[in-house]
Parts: sequence; structure tokens; C-alpha cells
Amino acid sequence: MTHRTARSAEAMKRAQTLIPGGVNSPVRAFRAVGGTPRFMTRGEGPYLYDLDGNRYIDYVLSWGPLILGHAHQAVVQAITEQTVRGTSYGAPTELESDLAALILSALPSMDLVRMVNSGTEATMSALRLARGFTGRSKIIKFIGCYHGHADSLLIRAGSGVATFSLPDSPGVPPEIAALTISLPYNDLAAVESAFAQFGEEIAAIIVEPVGGNMGMVPPKDGFLQGLRAVTQSYGALLIFDEVMTGFRVRFGGAQGYYGVKPDLTTLGKVIGGGLPVGAYGGRKDIMDLVAPAGPVYQAGTLSGNPLAVAAGLATLKTLATEGVYEGLEARSAQLVSTFLDAGKRYGFPVQGTFLGGMFGCFFAEHPVTDYESAAQSDKARYASYFHALLDRSVYLAPSHLEAGFVSLVHDDVVLAETCEAIDSAMRAIH
Ligand code: PMP
Repeated sequence: MTHRTARSAEAMKRAQTLIPGGVNSPVRAFRAVGGTPRFMTRGEGPYLYDLDGNRYIDYVLSWGPLILGHAHQAVVQAITEQTVRGTSYGAPTELESDLAALILSALPSMDLVRMVNSGTEATMSALRLARGFTGRSKIIKFIGCYHGHADSLLIRAGSGVATFSLPDSPGVPPEIAALTISLPYNDLAAVESAFAQFGEEIAAIIVEPVGGNMGMVPPKDGFLQGLRAVTQSYGALLIFDEVMTGFRVRFGGAQGYYGVKPDLTTLGKVIGGGLPVGAYGGRKDIMDLVAPAGPVYQAGTLSGNPLAVAAGLATLKTLATEGVYEGLEARSAQLVSTFLDAGKRYGFPVQGTFLGGMFGCFFAEHPVTDYESAAQSDKARYASYFHALLDRSVYLAPSHLEAGFVSLVHDDVVLAETCEAIDSAMRAIH
């Protein structure tokens, strides 16, 4: 049952002589689970194909963007049609307004939106804007939430960073780190006491409204509402980082689902349909400060790139269909319940979470509510499970602290094959 990996192993050897660690983003190196990272050659629907000719059912989906699956016809067609008209103009297009209008209609907290090229750029720019708007310097983030790799945000940042035991990265000046207050996720009392101490200095809270970088960790009842109330009373801004959750948990994001209106929102992943994209937006009085409308500078050579915008538009239009999110959530629920049943059958303590097209599976005794409880989940057991599934042609995230994703093309047949593999993998490792 074990797959061939000789060509991937060769490719990794070569890559390591050319690229730091052989990869262009750390988690791809399989450091948390060991073994040979698979070098991919093709994606089609729910499947990934590697250099050695193995086929996998993909639950990483490029870390979230591919909610329609790989090479979806509408996306391929949109990109192809745009490509022949040119790949970038460095000048405005009507397409950008089309995408902006769609995003703004889905997320009523946003009056204006600016496109950028990654989630990192989106959160970095939103923070600069929050500081520019409030004239304050400190920010609050939550331990285990990842908001990209900007200096201020690379602090107790979950998954990739935590996996490598780098609580902070060398190169982040302590003077900058000192402006970031890190608090436990889901701990409103900690937030209130930070505001009691530093309230006049805090520009913003940035939060993943559903944690997705310590596995999937939903907010406790009242947590997001509490963040809204405390920021309002101290004149600080509330930033929802919906890079992962936007158009992933619901069409209206986590903010629509939980009914909390942030001042600013960051987006990425799904809105780019698999091309490099991010966006930030929110209240008009705040966004009016962004250059050239206002003095807070932010720019990008390829921002609003017509290929990425075309791919994003095609994706969002396909998602704006009745029943899409119910269907995604049913798939997530089926995977999680299979994981929980199999865990119980073979005697492992297991926990599961899901919302829309996103899910979390933990080998843990207790429900996971924050980074501390996520980090207590069994990393070694996850690694065994991960490899047992990989051998059964199911590709999960190569870390116990990442969320899983489903797409619209993970149909009943694909799910049935996955569920069988889950049970068989669990049996193999117990
Ligand atoms: N915010 C969140 C919530 C994310 O999950 C990520 C990436 N996983 C980012 C920001 C950074 O996005 P990017 O990798 O596109 O820079």
C-alpha cells in the first residue's frame, strides 16, 4: 500500500541545494510529520498527482483557496480568457470593481476594499491603517492565531511557526514585538484586563474569528461579541482576519455566521481562486485614509492583477449559489464524525470541529479551545495517522496544528473512499 516516493525524494534533494529547506513555504517540508514531501505535478478536481505517479485525495487544497477543487472549469476559463488579453496592465480595470462589488455585497461590514497580493500584505496593511486611524501603536493578537509573517504579527503565531519552536522569529526587533500584546484565544477576561491596563494605547485587536492555524478552533459563545464591545468602548478597532474563513465557512464569512461586525476585515485565499491574492477593507471613514484617498500609504505593482481578479470572480460567482455552504458543511461533518467514530473504535482520545468547508481533527483528551489545548494534542500520533492516510491516498495537512478543507468536488464517492481510509489508517496505527 505504501506509495513510491523515489522521484519526490530526488526532487527534494535537488531543491534543498537551491531553495532554503527545499521549499518556498516552511510547512511544505513535512518537518512536523517527517518523511518525504511529495512533489506535485498536477491537480484535478479533488485530486493531486505527484512526481512518482501517485494520486491523492486533497484536503489541503493549497491551504484553503481551492474551494471549487483543482483546475475548476470556470476558473481555468476565466484565467485563459484573460491571459490572451494580457497578464498585467499596472492600470485600473473594470474587473477590479466587479470583484470589489461582489466582496462588499457579501460582507456588509465593508464599505470599501483594497486588493493586495497575499494575506500577509492584507493584515500588515490593515494594521498600519488601524494605527494611522487611531494614532495608537499597540495591538492585541491571540496566541496561536497566524496573520502572516509581518514583524508585528509574527509573535506566538501558531502552526508553521509553533511547529518549528520559534515563538518569535530572529529578525523581528524586540522594539516592534513589544507593541504586540499576545493573549490566549477565547479568553475575554484577559482582553478586558489588557484594555484596563493599556486601553488608551491599543490601536486594534486582530483575530481569526474562527481559529484556523492551531487546527480549527471555533470562538466560544460571546467571545467575538465581547471583543466588539471592548474595542468600541476604548476607541480601538476590531480587525477580523478572514483570510482563511472568508467565503470558506459561509459566503458572508465568519462575521456573517456569528453576527459580529468588525471595523476592518482581511481576506485572501478563496477570493483569489488559487492565484496570489489578498484584500483588506472595512468602514468608509477608515478606508478613506488609504492612499491616494488619504495619507496611509500602501501600494502594489501587481495588486488587482487581472488574472487573479478573474480567477477570484469566477470562484465567488460559483459559490454564490443556493445550498453551497450547506453542502460543504455536510462534507466536513461527515469527515469529522468518521474521524471521531474511528478514534473511539480504536481507543484514541479524539476531538473534532467543523464549520462550512473547514474542519479540525485532534488526537486530544479534551476539547480544543485555544493554543495551549491544541498544542497538547498528540503530535506523534498525528504524524503516524498522517502517513497512514498518505499511504491510503489521502493528503491531509502535514502538521497536527493545521485545519482541513473540503471542496465542492469532494463528492460522495470521494468522501466514501476517504472515510474508508480514515478507519483503515486508524486501525493500522492503533
Ligand atoms: N491570515 C490567516 C488567518 C492565514 O491563515 C494566513 C495564511 N495561512 C495568512 C493570514 C497569511 O496569508 P498568506 O500566506 O497569503 O500571506
